[in-house]
Amino acid sequence: MDKARALVLEKPRTLSLRTYELPEIHDDDALLRIEACGLCGTDHEQYTGAIPSGFEFVPGHESVGILEEIGPNAAKNWGVGQGDRVAVEVFQSCHQCPNCTSGNYRQCSSHGIGDMYGFIPVSKEPSLWGGYASHQYLSPDSIVHKVPDGLDPVVATLFNPLGAGIRWGSTIPQVAPGEIVVILGPGIRGICAVVAAKLAGASFIAITGKGPRDKSRLDTASRFGADLAIDIDEIDPDKALTSACGTLADVVVNVTAKAPSAIGQAIKLVRPGGRIVMAGTSGSPETPGLWPDLIVYKEITIFGALGVDSVSYRKALEILADQSFPFQELDRKTAQLESAGNLILEMAGETGSTPPIHGVLLP
Ligand SMILES: [Zn+2]
Ligand SMILES: [Zn+2]
Repeated sequence: MDKARALVLEKPRTLSLRTYELPEIHDDDALLRIEACGLCGTDHEQYTGAIPSGFEFVPGHESVGILEEIGPNAAKNWGVGQGDRVAVEVFQSCHQCPNCTSGNYRQCSSHGIGDMYGFIPVSKEPSLWGGYASHQYLSPDSIVHKVPDGLDPVVATLFNPLGAGIRWGSTIPQVAPGEIVVILGPGIRGICAVVAAKLAGASFIAITGKGPRDKSRLDTASRFGADLAIDIDEIDPDKALTSACGTLADVVVNVTAKAPSAIGQAIKLVRPGGRIVMAGTSGSPETPGLWPDLIVYKEITIFGALGVDSVSYRKALEILADQSFPFQELDRKTAQLESAGNLILEMAGETGSTPPIHGVLLP
């Protein structure tokens, strides 16, 4: 194959399949043959234009594939070689600016949030900057992780949500053994946060969802270790929690999307002196049900969390490979490039059918 096939998001809700020349690889960069690309809420927001771009780009930021070609310096710097299966981080790092050298490379001054894989214009050469394609170009500033032998590439795409679950559900709030943790939101990130809290030794984990649409997701969360599943349409989460374990939460992790009332709920759910991680975005300046004085009276610590770091990604790949949680059996739907749009809409609940928990493109 001497050409790459890629889906370009030309404008909201318009993906078109194009072919591109395969880029020439030099000493510091590489070419990935994509096997699988995971989909998440961001994909839907890009697709609909809720995250506006104003330019054409190849989406896809949860790529797993085989290094078809890699320059000698890149191989040395990244610790991988031609033919290796790798997972690609969404952020790039210059390894030189103060943010990168201090480990906060998500805010890299030469890349950062405006230069993430799956969100770079096709007008920038060589255009192949996303996972909705047969091939992805890996710049010299890429961060890749070798996928453990024997791990299915489709399951391996969970490196991204599970990495997030680990960072948000365990590392940032520093969950200690014996603590009570509540996760708000039963999507794939919520389920992954349950796994992270479990592995950190939490003694009781509750998870919230809303209405019939979340029923099967809450059931899945229970299979992954949640002790209590709460439908917030049926009962106030703080009442459900205190009646189940007699006390409020040490840690609340909010991974809901478009749920402006989640912050108010989190503040009600957490005990005095407790910690809250805000990782989901509500997409709204409104905060119904929020009583800010409670932050003062309870002396609550609130962390904002954006993205994942390399340590969490590597841990995620290890957990996926050791198969101690049933990630293989997740309710999952895959699609070829040609039907990417349908799968994105289905995952967002726009097609009327029950959305799968995990969606994956197979280019
Ligand atoms: Zn994503
Ligand atoms: Zn940097």
